[in-house]
Amino acid sequence: MNRSVSFKVVLLGEGSVGKTSIVLRYTDNLFNDKHLETQQASFKTKKLNLDGRRVELAIWDTAGQERFRALGPLYYREANGAILVFDITDEDSFNQVKSWIKELKRMLGDDVVLCIVENKVDLEKDRRVSRQTAEEYAKLVNAKLYPTSAKFNKGIEELFSDLAHRMLEKVGPTSNN
Ligand code: GDP
Repeated sequence: MNRSVSFKVVLLGEGSVGKTSIVLRYTDNLFNDKHLETQQASFKTKKLNLDGRRVELAIWDTAGQERFRALGPLYYREANGAILVFDITDEDSFNQVKSWIKELKRMLGDDVVLCIVENKVDLEKDRRVSRQTAEEYAKLVNAKLYPTSAKFNKGIEELFSDLAHRMLEKVGPTSNN
């Protein structure tokens, strides 16, 4: 049987960490040096084939509401996967990831597969959050850490494909979600 399975994936994180850039790099292989108005990417889908299984990802990006702390539970309700992004040059953005994780755990328990993304690894010389700090935190909350650069297309494909594998494992081999 080769039934398809669909997953809801949400992006979370402070404004300007690169959420929209990560999505657009993955779905359209595009990158823009300017801050992108998220209208363009508020909802994208991507189909992939994993070990003979058809998977469709519905990828939700915020339209900047995170700036006003106005992202409500409707946004992440029933999410199978969450991608929490911070910018390695911005310590506050890492703290913001921590508070999103608390919120997600409170609202969704352990049902959601968590990915912490340290984006902009091309700016390594300006790094403010050490890899070790991020790794230790990820381990503590049962998440996985993915280093990426949307700008140079590093780690993006791996992020989504690993997330898809992890979500599939969670629903089991026969479930249609
Ligand atoms: P969002 O508000 O989290 O959706 O962030 P955006 O995707 O709009 O990106 C904010 C800014 O960071 C833009 O100027 C992007 O060009 C830039 N940016 C995004 N990803 C990277 C990256 O991997 N490296 C660098 N150097 N800049 C990036």
